[in-house]
Amino acid sequence: MPEGDTVLQTAGRLGTALAGRVLTRSDLRVPRFATADLTGRTVLDVVSRGKHLLTRVEGGLTLHSHLRMDGAWRVYAAGERWRGGPAHQIRAVLGNAEHTAVGYRLPVLELLRTRDEAKAVGHLGPDLLGPDWDPGTALRNLLADPGRPLGDALLDQRNLAGIGNIYKAELCFLARATPWLAVGDLPAPTAARLVTTAKQLLEANRDRPTRTTTTPRTARGHGPKERLWVYGRTDRPCLRCGTPIRTADQDARPTYWCPRCQSGPTQ
Ligand SMILES: [Zn+2]
Repeated sequence: MPEGDTVLQTAGRLGTALAGRVLTRSDLRVPRFATADLTGRTVLDVVSRGKHLLTRVEGGLTLHSHLRMDGAWRVYAAGERWRGGPAHQIRAVLGNAEHTAVGYRLPVLELLRTRDEAKAVGHLGPDLLGPDWDPGTALRNLLADPGRPLGDALLDQRNLAGIGNIYKAELCFLARATPWLAVGDLPAPTAARLVTTAKQLLEANRDRPTRTTTTPRTARGHGPKERLWVYGRTDRPCLRCGTPIRTADQDARPTYWCPRCQSGPTQ
């Protein structure tokens, strides 16, 4: 499941492969843009905003894509075999003499005028990894609806952009609150620290191949393989207290928590 750091890494790979080079191949396999042809245009840059990717090309156009649950962009050297999935899952192909970028299973793919990018991403709250990061606004947004469960509020990209299901569970653990605790019930210093922690976690992982929220010191005695506090660790001992980690759905997606370390309602 892509989170803001994954999307940022994808933007980096696409930028390295495409930016500053003329497109010699362009194939958008969605009905609305099937006839669009970007060949002959230079790719200017590729940026991420929260979990959205914006590929800007010469002539004031932006290819907007979103990875949602299992979309991916893969970059291949010219002539290399594409291995990202079956051909019918390919939604976009952009290439130049050296590289080909292939977008698989992209649930959102649209061509916009660059000046209209705000229509695609203008609803986003401050981007944890973006130039517009603003912890004060993020905190205000997060607490705007005091009765809202913490897990929901963290995932809502209009509050702050870049947190997916993994960071949601990890941040609740670090705040010692269950994902169902109303945000208004978080002590004020905890809420402020949560926003800072979110920024630190995404920054720490922006270039890492494997997402890590623990540190060797905090997960002491549990070995270097324990990279996450609770996510995906159902029935395994909490790294802090040893209590078995629990799981349940929140908004139809699994979430994880330690019943001892985290206080608040459980569903
Ligand atoms: Zn615990």
